[in-house]
Amino acid sequence: MVADGRHAVVIGSGISGLLAARVLLGHFERVTIVDRDRFPQRPDHRGGVPQSWHVHGLLPRGAQIIYELFPGLHGELRADGAAVAWDLCRAKIVTPAGLLPLAGELDGFEDGMLFHSRFLLEWRLRQRLSADARVRFSPATEVVGLSTSRWGSASARGAVSGVRVRYRDTSAEGRGADRGSGVLDADLVVDASGRSSHAPEWIEGLGYGRVGEETVHSQLSYASRFYARPDGFPDEFSLLLINGRPPDNPRAGLVQDIENGVWHVTLGGMAGAVVPTDDEEEFLRWARELPDPRMYEAIRVARPLTPLRGWRTPSNRLRHFERLRSWPPGLIVTGDAVCALNPIYGQGMTVAAIDALALRDCLLDYDSGRRPGFEKAFQRRLARTVAGPWLAASSEDLRWPTVTMDGARPRRGTTLVRRYLDVVLRAAVEDPVLARRYFDVIGIMAPPTSLFSPAVAVRVALDAGRRVAARLTRRRTVPECPFPLTPGRLVAYRGRRP
Ligand SMILES: Cc1cc2nc3c(=O)[nH]c(=O)nc-3n(C[C@H](O)[C@H](O)[C@H](O)COP(=O)(O)OP(=O)(O)OC[C@H]3O[C@@H](n4cnc5c(N)ncnc54)[C@H](O)[C@@H]3O)c2cc1C
Repeated sequence: MVADGRHAVVIGSGISGLLAARVLLGHFERVTIVDRDRFPQRPDHRGGVPQSWHVHGLLPRGAQIIYELFPGLHGELRADGAAVAWDLCRAKIVTPAGLLPLAGELDGFEDGMLFHSRFLLEWRLRQRLSADARVRFSPATEVVGLSTSRWGSASARGAVSGVRVRYRDTSAEGRGADRGSGVLDADLVVDASGRSSHAPEWIEGLGYGRVGEETVHSQLSYASRFYARPDGFPDEFSLLLINGRPPDNPRAGLVQDIENGVWHVTLGGMAGAVVPTDDEEEFLRWARELPDPRMYEAIRVARPLTPLRGWRTPSNRLRHFERLRSWPPGLIVTGDAVCALNPIYGQGMTVAAIDALALRDCLLDYDSGRRPGFEKAFQRRLARTVAGPWLAASSEDLRWPTVTMDGARPRRGTTLVRRYLDVVLRAAVEDPVLARRYFDVIGIMAPPTSLFSPAVAVRVALDAGRRVAARLTRRRTVPECPFPLTPGRLVAYRGRRP
């Protein structure tokens, strides 16, 4: 229900800001999306989201939600050249236990699973929102603080009534020069400004107290680039993911098909290992020393389209806004501003999408007159939403002995759970049913608890039995969905190159 000329301001036009804006349109007459960047005229990188230079995989749950919020988007992305896969067999995921034998259609993706760049997705979402007369984008506008009003607020500390902004000249000549300042009034401010959000300082500045946080010092490094997909290359994957192998091999790698015949490639260094970005030979050597040879075999024959770009994420952070005793009316915080996860697990955009659904549900309270308290209810709901992905990412990170955590102790029983998951994974690389269950969990299509069901436990036990039998008879089980992109086959391929 949209009522009484209400206006919402969203800080940040990243994925979480754009999805939040979509949901807000069902409840506010006007939505203004403010970003410090100027937007490119075509799908392209921009300064405010430098992470788009690195592979951005969208998990199935995230894709499902985004297509639901933007009907027809799937078709538009396909028309834009996004790569399409019909069978899960095209997702080659090499876990520390081996390759997952994935196969079959993914429920809800009868029109195919799409693979594309983050900047294409963002551009498409911006196009869709810009076409709505109720949405206004305010580019080159940096939010520098919140404006408050004491009127009408139950709290002596005042309600948030808008944002204070500074307009920037972002043209090449302007070099970010100040073009004046102003205030944008709003009934609701949504902070979706990402990892660099100032929400904790702003909230503390208003007298609402200090926001607690948990930090995991994962010390991740990335080096990425775009390649032309080689003509005639064995067409066996749309996504090739090679996980690091704790505690010995901190090298991880990702090749993802994106739009128009391009491969987006990222090499990762876990737990303080740094991927080289300034020496081609060293970069390739890093790829060769991945726990699995297939990524090296793929990229060594591909033609680079861009220089290598590095990235470091020293730590990841969960902010506990929900624990504040009182909360400023008129403000909510979402996306990476609340929970900035280790990018290696590819959860961020999907969590942003799940956050948007949480906002959609909570806005029903806002409409039904329960406005005071809606904001805090949202932050509480969000805290529950992000708890699973945060726990999954941080407990994976803590497998590396050099990774440390501040603000919370690893939960009791974590080691036991990790050991059980290792056993499940070991079984999954030989059991397509378990592989699928595992994939559904990492794709956030199913809750982690589904791996603890009796059906899974039975399959794990059967696998253990098979292993014992195989050891006694010296026969190995053969994984289904083989991935023959092996050096031997590629020698033949390389021989065909001009
Ligand atoms: C290297 C890297 C790789 C990643 N890989 C993946 C992946 O494979 N899969 C995945 O799902 N996620 C990935 N992520 C995470 C993903 O980018 C984010 O989780 C997701 O985009 C949601 O972020 P967000 O919208 O909250 O913030 P962002 O995407 O960071 O957007 C924040 C926006 O706010 C604007 N802004 C910031 N401050 C201000 C201000 N003061 N005033 C006005 N505007 C402001 C910025 O310009 C930007 O547009 C990765 C992240 C990184 C860093």
